[in-house]
Amino acid sequence: MRSINKTGNAVVIIAAALFAAAGCGQQATPAPKAAEHQHEHSINGWCTEHELPEEICSLCNKKYAEECKKAGDWCKEHDRAESQCFVCDPAAKEKFAAQYKAQHGQDPPKPHQH
Ligand SMILES: [Zn+2]
Ligand SMILES: [Zn+2]
Ligand SMILES: [Zn+2]
Repeated sequence: MRSINKTGNAVVIIAAALFAAAGCGQQATPAPKAAEHQHEHSINGWCTEHELPEEICSLCNKKYAEECKKAGDWCKEHDRAESQCFVCDPAAKEKFAAQYKAQHGQDPPKPHQH
């Protein structure tokens, strides 16, 4: 009788261990949330992503982009206003930064890239 009980207990213990192991494997670890934008791209009216004044950022402001296209100020290659295309005209970047500095008395906020 005793030996049967012992064996029975052992089986139960093994089964419990297996169950625990299986349970552990099945337990879905919470998937990390997709990277969300918890931060602002606009600081003090400045688009830190494109280094332009926010209200005339042709990459963020679709309405302004349409105006630029209508005015013929559009870089098709880089999909932004030609006057704001720092790829074609790196000096334009300095121009907008200088404008910001003149308005705010300091350099524009640090650029934020992804
Ligand atoms: Zn961002
Ligand atoms: Zn922008
Ligand atoms: Zn361009």
